[in-house]
Amino acid sequence: MVNKIHHDRHAFIDGAAQPTLSTGSKTIRAVDPSTLEEIATIYTSPPSTIDRAISSASEAFGSWSSTPPVERSRILLRAAALLRAKTHDLAILETQSTGKPYSETSTVDIPTGADVLEYYANLVASGGLNGESFPLRTSAWVYTTKAPLGVCVGIGAWNYPIQIALWKSAPCLAAGNCMVYKPSEFTSLHAEELVKIYKEAGLPNGVFNVVYGGGEVGSYLTKHPGVAKVSFTGQVSTGRKVAGSAAGEMKYVTMELGGKSPLIVLPDADVDNAVDGAMMANFFSTGQVCTNGTRVFVPKTMMAEFEKRLLEKMRYVRPGDLFDEKTNFGPLVSRVHWEKVIGYIKHGVEVDRAKLLCGGSGEVQGLPVSMRKGLWVRPTVFTDCTDEMRIVREEIFGPVMSILPYESVEEVVKRANDTPMGLAAGVFGKDINQCHDVIRQLEAGITWVNTWGESPAEMAVGGWKQSGVGVENGRKGLESWVKNKSTLVEMGGSVPTVFAKL
Ligand code: NDP
Repeated sequence: MVNKIHHDRHAFIDGAAQPTLSTGSKTIRAVDPSTLEEIATIYTSPPSTIDRAISSASEAFGSWSSTPPVERSRILLRAAALLRAKTHDLAILETQSTGKPYSETSTVDIPTGADVLEYYANLVASGGLNGESFPLRTSAWVYTTKAPLGVCVGIGAWNYPIQIALWKSAPCLAAGNCMVYKPSEFTSLHAEELVKIYKEAGLPNGVFNVVYGGGEVGSYLTKHPGVAKVSFTGQVSTGRKVAGSAAGEMKYVTMELGGKSPLIVLPDADVDNAVDGAMMANFFSTGQVCTNGTRVFVPKTMMAEFEKRLLEKMRYVRPGDLFDEKTNFGPLVSRVHWEKVIGYIKHGVEVDRAKLLCGGSGEVQGLPVSMRKGLWVRPTVFTDCTDEMRIVREEIFGPVMSILPYESVEEVVKRANDTPMGLAAGVFGKDINQCHDVIRQLEAGITWVNTWGESPAEMAVGGWKQSGVGVENGRKGLESWVKNKSTLVEMGGSVPTVFAKL
């Protein structure tokens, strides 16, 4: 049995929660999506509080940016160890806040966040921020240095709250920047736990501050003249606004946006493996994963077998008490999102006229009484879909798979690329040469062969086309938190000049 505690959240600035700065501010009621019970009151941050958070980060920047990387690394490694030690409590909170099963938050959300913190702490301690030097000619050489950007803003989506906060703050702080972070208004609880862990690990006050609220807080942050960079995770439509206002001040941006990713089952694929991949790509986290492979392309000749195996395995999707270790499927995150997903399912049936293989907009059966008010939805599969259907073209961000039959590999590559988004893509097949050849042609920044969804700290991830700008994680992920300085040194004793006496 998990204790139910009601939490209050106030902006966390300069190493402390700031209830006095919340006087008169609006509040947000946070609920547990599995039951709709209220779990927290979030006090949103008015502009004066956001200004305070930015000045606090700005004041901390001078000292933090000149702290040697190896010392910054030690603090971040301590924070990673604390995260791991507190995984159980953090996972409980994240489960209550997002509605994801504990079996998921305790094994994915917290550990993969800690992995990234460890990765960047180790990287900057082992030369990851070094520049290069090279001779230009016998009398001259060039060297480069990397400098942190300043005060950076992190704006998170609601689907992987603490993981997103860590994927942004780890490289940001490791590179010597300071951050003001705004979580999604729907899932804000993790932010105070994270800032307290950083503090306990020895992070100086002001290096990582948290403000709360919805789009208006995000918008104020992205326009703020004291901000050097915005790292944003969210929908394409919001990303456009954020990039637009950041562009006014020529701020650096990283945009991690939505997708409508293709999963291609090649004709020689192992059907069981491909079905497992399609299920992970659609039902993990109740389908609320940006890289979901929601367009599942299956050879026409394999359709019957694929559908049969999928239907057999659908019984392994187990909604239920989120703290039961067998539960692997939770509710959707919020009422507004639930309405959106149910709306798409109804549209699929009534307007797109797609064939419903299983699921649909009806109630989820067999839930404990306490959960019947929650935001549950059935895992849903449409089959025999066509490319122009709305459920096939738009990001649903819920557990809704569309199966699309195809005849030739050449045709399927063209159809897979026929989308303005390019976040992820993947293939299942035995002929590895063919797999690589298809991957080469797919227009997406994150791709998988014979698997789906794994995103380790070492692997840079970011979307193509409208799915994003820049990458997170891996060595490349660090580059987006620093600016380059190139220095040319002339040692010949005189300046090469055209203005010499003739
Ligand atoms: P939203 O775009 O609705 O919100 C993202 C964040 O932006 C929230 O914190 C939100 O605040 C804030 N925000 C809203 N309006 C503005 C604004 N005008 N200026 C600045 N910030 C603003 O996305 P969701 O939270 O609904 O997240 C789901 C989306 O995120 C999906 O499209 C998914 O694909 C994408 N995503 C992409 C990932 C990637 O790595 N590519 C990873 C995870 C998700 P609030 O919500 O508090 O109102």
